[in-house]
Amino acid sequence: MIRCGVLTVSDRCSAGEAEDKSGPALIKLLEGQKKHQYTIEQAKVIPDEKSQIEAVLKHWSDDLHLDLVLTTGGTGFAPRDVTPEATKSVLDSEAPGIVIAMMTASLSITPMAMLSRAAAGVRGQTLIVNLPGSPKGASENAETALKAIPHAVALLKGDIKNVEKVHQKLHCGCSHEPEHVGDVTKVAHRPRKSPYPMISVDAALKIIYTEVESLQKAFKMPIHLALGCIAAEDAVSLCNIPPYAASVKDGYAVLSADGTGERKVVGDVLAGGNLQMKSIQPGECLRITTGAAVCGGADAVVQVEDTELLLSTPDGKEELKINIMDAPRQGQDIRPVGSDLAVGQVVVEKGNKIGPAQVGALASAGVKQIVTYERPKIAVLSTGDEIQDISSSSPGPFVIYDSNRPTLIALLTQQGFQVEDLGIALDDQDAIAETLKKGFASADVVISSGGVSMGEKDFLKHILITKFQAKIHFGRVNMKPGKPTTFATCDFKGQKKLVFALPGNPVSATVTCHLFALPALRAMSGFSSGYSREITVQLAETIVLDSRPEYCRAVLERAPVPTKTVPVAHLTGNQISSRLLSLQSGSVLIELPGGTKEKGTLQRGELVKALLIE
Ligand code: AMP
Ligand code: MG
Repeated sequence: MIRCGVLTVSDRCSAGEAEDKSGPALIKLLEGQKKHQYTIEQAKVIPDEKSQIEAVLKHWSDDLHLDLVLTTGGTGFAPRDVTPEATKSVLDSEAPGIVIAMMTASLSITPMAMLSRAAAGVRGQTLIVNLPGSPKGASENAETALKAIPHAVALLKGDIKNVEKVHQKLHCGCSHEPEHVGDVTKVAHRPRKSPYPMISVDAALKIIYTEVESLQKAFKMPIHLALGCIAAEDAVSLCNIPPYAASVKDGYAVLSADGTGERKVVGDVLAGGNLQMKSIQPGECLRITTGAAVCGGADAVVQVEDTELLLSTPDGKEELKINIMDAPRQGQDIRPVGSDLAVGQVVVEKGNKIGPAQVGALASAGVKQIVTYERPKIAVLSTGDEIQDISSSSPGPFVIYDSNRPTLIALLTQQGFQVEDLGIALDDQDAIAETLKKGFASADVVISSGGVSMGEKDFLKHILITKFQAKIHFGRVNMKPGKPTTFATCDFKGQKKLVFALPGNPVSATVTCHLFALPALRAMSGFSSGYSREITVQLAETIVLDSRPEYCRAVLERAPVPTKTVPVAHLTGNQISSRLLSLQSGSVLIELPGGTKEKGTLQRGELVKALLIE
């Protein structure tokens, strides 16, 4: 509850010569705020008299202890405008940030805003904010200030609970570390609860898509290198196909009006060979091959199968007379100019993926280069003192081989991305920072695994914030596996970089790469959908739901013959997030909702959404 006073400062309103519209407008605005409750305890209209203004402000803050006082009027250049002077004279400390915020917002509406001299600040535990005199200006400025007022009031009142709530929210999207992270070098000071708010998978994806929106880069590339890319512009044909009227058959170019019967063979025309420029006369024809230009005035082609030889040269090298057995139609077996593809016709539409067929179509259309979306470069690292590369000659007693990096690199490479291997960084702040730096220098997106949970060596978020001034967009997602999945962006040498700091458990790292990193990479590459394929499956068994939405690995039952029924999904055994085998045999990730008291299980046969990951 925020206790407010609204003070209208105006000679004319105070004298009854004009109606006070600004005061009521502000009251209406405050009372209409849904999230925070404002109660209007005082409302007054007074003249532009410095002493009177000071007296009211002092009374409302010192005696009535209001939380918030909004004044309207007297902030301009008129000789009697003294509200800022009166306000400043009673303030213990000024709050220029509020004034700047209001000014900035108003300037985007009108340059007249620069003429406001409003003040804001604190007296005792009361926040006082001057607003302009017009009802519109007062309301607009108040709306801006109200974005921070509840937090300011909570701070002034020492309302720790609300202050912390705001801080938690803020830290999800700011470059400062949450205050309750403690000193990461002292284990006893680590937080025992994550300071990062838990957000849903959908909310996380929304954030990711917003962040990658501006990162699509279009460029021209030779068509043979464009395989798998998305066209960023329509590509149009530079030629007609066929470029000339072409024969569809091996046979004879004839005049259709001649009908059936005898024809004199007066020449030949072969694909790629010379044209017969002389026109054929009634009763004449030309021998022709498939793909050759129909010429000599012929208007139909008769395939060789529909003819008989009547006369040839004695050596059999030339045909002299043939018999046409079926009367030809005009245009028969002729492909007109541009009938397959005309000059200017779109060959590959913007947004379409370039596959082998598109490469072929572009080549036939004479298009050597196509504008596509550049695929982002990715760098992958693993973290952990216990992690060793498979190539290490003498694995120590308490080490495990790195499986995340090989899995992620393979997965991303399979999807057509160029991936740099950054190796393994020890759980050491400098080592991780150095490796990240190397990644930022060469890649657009850095994907790490490990070091994002609640362990004393889980430094990733801290390093991103302190060494790279990264913005942590989220640090916890309501899902299983993958709860500590972290997504951050930072500026590195003037370029925006994305970081997916995935959890260390092998299944978590892979599942979250599928769910978050791949959609981001696909969006950057111009794909219109985040996932390559989502399907509906029916459960082969009854499943007890976890409290968090869960992504289980499952294998689809192979039906003996293709059927139109929904495929049946069998879970791949123990779903613990360390067990990579659950992924190995799985071809889908099935999405199970979080369990509730009302619905704690899904029954065999129930339908769920699934993501194809094969
Ligand atoms: P962390 O997220 O760093 O706390 O790691 C969680 C679990 O995943 C630990 O049991 C790690 O040993 C394991 N882990 C972390 N990184 C890898 C990796 N690259 N390969 C295999 N297991 C890993
Ligand atoms: Mg670790």
